[in-house]
Formats: sequence, structure tokens, C-alpha cells
Amino acid sequence: MEQNKAFIQVKNLKKYFKVGRKAILKAVDDVTFDIRKGETLGLVGESGCGKTTCGRTILGLYSATDGDVIFDGINVHKLKGKEKKEFTKRAQIIFQDPYASLNPRMTVSDIVSAGMDIHDMYTPRERLERVYELLNLVGLNKEHASRFPHEFSGGQRQRIGIARALALEPEFIVCDEPISALDVSIQAQIVNLLIKLQKELGLTYLFIAHDLSMVRHISDRVGVMYLGNMVELTGSMRLYEKPLHPYTKALLSAIPVPEPNIARNRKRIRLEGEVPSPINPKPGCRFVTRCSYAKKECYEDTPVLKEVEPDHFVACHLY
Ligand code: SF4
Repeated sequence: MEQNKAFIQVKNLKKYFKVGRKAILKAVDDVTFDIRKGETLGLVGESGCGKTTCGRTILGLYSATDGDVIFDGINVHKLKGKEKKEFTKRAQIIFQDPYASLNPRMTVSDIVSAGMDIHDMYTPRERLERVYELLNLVGLNKEHASRFPHEFSGGQRQRIGIARALALEPEFIVCDEPISALDVSIQAQIVNLLIKLQKELGLTYLFIAHDLSMVRHISDRVGVMYLGNMVELTGSMRLYEKPLHPYTKALLSAIPVPEPNIARNRKRIRLEGEVPSPINPKPGCRFVTRCSYAKKECYEDTPVLKEVEPDHFVACHLY
């Protein structure tokens, strides 16, 4: 793995949505970070924090309101026509809901090979061989190719979704909460499959989730988002052992830890106060209404993400 090299640079990315006549929902608001070649970057936060919008804007599925996404030297939001189509081969997505994301009228073979057809990549015979190969790669088999999605369990459907994402041999995959809709017993199987595929195929992942324990298991580094902002970003081990941002501390205090010594000393931090709206947010720190450390400055100045320790970035006036 060629880690530590920025493969994807997200620079001051903004994605706003107009809500009604005057209101603006700032789903992603000035977010800057890198994704390194061969790593899994976890992106966590409560629902509505902008993590899914961020992932989709990185892929160009949403146009950016402002800012840039540089993918291996290419500015994603400046691509047009043929170049844009070529980019879709290199960067793919696995969706959250394996029930809604597969067309119930298409066979598994047609679902998995739809992208190959768009890119006119194979003869019909080669296409089928490739489908068999992909099904095998994700733990299914060639008998499954002619069946329809309703004949499969949730975990198997997500395997089909993964095969579809792999069909064009991408280098980067946004895994958009790929396990949230699955039974707990199946979640680990899908995460382990993603880890195996990453090793075999040299993939880079952006793994979006709200389940912090699973993110810890799969990620090299983790970014924490709160209401459209990135509030903390560092190595996975470090984040779980020494979180700095008050919001990260609260999130982590709620997850069970297997080590009894750490568990005994850990105090659950309850988040109190109102969650502000991402529509027309006020200046200052967006976490201010729920933060027990808030000071005057926090109501006036928006903290920027800065490196406070080597490879540990945090956006908070305490640091
Ligand atoms: Fe709390 Fe202020 Fe830090 Fe925001 S900037 S997290 S309000 S201490």
C-alpha cells in the first residue's frame, strides 16, 4: 500500500441546497481533507451531518457549490463528456440500502454488468465470464447470475451491490453506510469482505457510517463531521484512544469498549442542548449549543480545522 500520499484532495468543498425562497441548507460547508492511496478513511457523525452528501459530491454525483475535488491530479468537478464518463470507471459507490438500490426487474447478471454495457467493454460472452468472476469475488456463485434480487437475503444483496461497484475495476469506492440496513450478525461479514477486497485489489475507500465501533475496525483514519463541518481527523487508533474535540469525546463515550480497564474508567457524556439547524447556520462553532466547554469566542468565530499534533487535526477553540 502506498499510504500517506494524497490520492484525493478535497479542498474547501461546499454543497448547499436551496430550501424555499431564502433558506439555504449548508449540508457540506468548507470541508478540507485528503484521502490517501490504499487507505480506508472512515467518515462518521450523526444523521444529517453531511457525510453522505460529502461522499456523493466527491464522486461528482452532486455538483459542488464551491471548492474542488482533485482525484489523482484531475479536478472532478471540471470534467465533461467523455472524460466524465471515464472517471466513473475509476470511482464508484456502494449504496446503503441493498433493497432499494437493486432494480427488482433485472437479473443479477444485468445489474452487475450494467456499467460494462455503458462503457461498451466486453463481448456478451466475456461480459458473462466477468459477471461470474465478480460473483465469485464477493462470495456468490455463477448460479446466482440469472436470479432476481428478491430471491436473496440482505447480506447477499449487498454482495451484489459490491460486485456491481467492482465491475469497472475502480480504484476508489465510496461505501455509503453499506452495513446500516443489515442485521448485526451480517454486518461483520460484509466489512470483512470489503477488507479482503481492498487487500486483493488495492482499493481506496471512503467508508461512511454512524456506527463507530465498525468504523474503528475497518478504517486507517477517521474524520468526524458535525453539521456540515469536519471537526476532527486523525488515525483510527489515536481517535479512539485520545479524542480531542468535545463532540468526538461524547460520540465515543457512548460506544461499548471490549477492554474492561478502559470501560471502567469511561464516563458516558450525554449530549444536551438543542441541535442547531444546518439551514442558515449562525456564525461561530456549530457545536456551541451542546458543548459544556463553550466560551465567548465560540459564539463568534467559526473554528477552523488545524493540525494540533502530528497528523491529528481538530476544529475547536480549546486547541
Ligand atoms: Fe466547544 Fe468552543 Fe470547541 Fe466548539 S469551539 S467544540 S463550542 S469549545
